[in-house]
Amino acid sequence: MQRELCQANFRPLLEPFDSRICNSQVVSVCGVWSDLSIAYLSPGWLNFAAANGGEPDVSARWPLGENLLSGIEGPLAKFFEQGYRKCLSEERLWVHVYECSSADQFRLFQMTSYPLPRREGLLIVHSLRVERPQHHDQLNSSVHTDYADEQNIVHQCSYCRRVRRREAAVWDWVREYIDAAPPGISHTICESCFGYYAPRLEAGQEFPPLRFLYSEPNALASGGSTPVSRSYSSPVP
Ligand SMILES: [Zn+2]
Repeated sequence: MQRELCQANFRPLLEPFDSRICNSQVVSVCGVWSDLSIAYLSPGWLNFAAANGGEPDVSARWPLGENLLSGIEGPLAKFFEQGYRKCLSEERLWVHVYECSSADQFRLFQMTSYPLPRREGLLIVHSLRVERPQHHDQLNSSVHTDYADEQNIVHQCSYCRRVRRREAAVWDWVREYIDAAPPGISHTICESCFGYYAPRLEAGQEFPPLRFLYSEPNALASGGSTPVSRSYSSPVP
């Protein structure tokens, strides 16, 4: 069991976010100040590093206070720097899809970067992206059992469109549910999207249409170094 690492003065920025995100041993979350220095690492983040052979090296290399981009060089560093800066300055969510395969498993992840109130920092949430090359009629026997509840209902966040796992407060982005909504679907808001909106609602703002930056894993390979901007009305298409 890992324990989170958090700078005391960063803690208030996490308050709008449900403790299930930050206490989860599964959800990988990192918090940074606006200068991209690391202020928070969730237990799930540390577990992921350990499970992928990164610990104790990762914690030693990226301790609290270290710049998140230290040790990353060249176009990749520029790409992330631009993405995080844009996310902060324009107050947009940044969704970045990336490959992080293990020795025996091809895996895609989705990083969603949420600007924190007053642009003081970012909360960076990593989610599994489930994209299986299957026909839709196979969905019921495979992916569906991981996400549908006892009443055969799938709970999807209207904002980021991730769906909640049956067994835990963990939200994954599942291709099949985007391509075709299952018959029993319930729209809700996930803990991280709620945490993003809560301070804005308290300040009297309405739920604005979600505006975010988006980049695919091939963004760098194709020569693009800046995330693409998109604005969506909710629910996100
Ligand atoms: Zn969401």
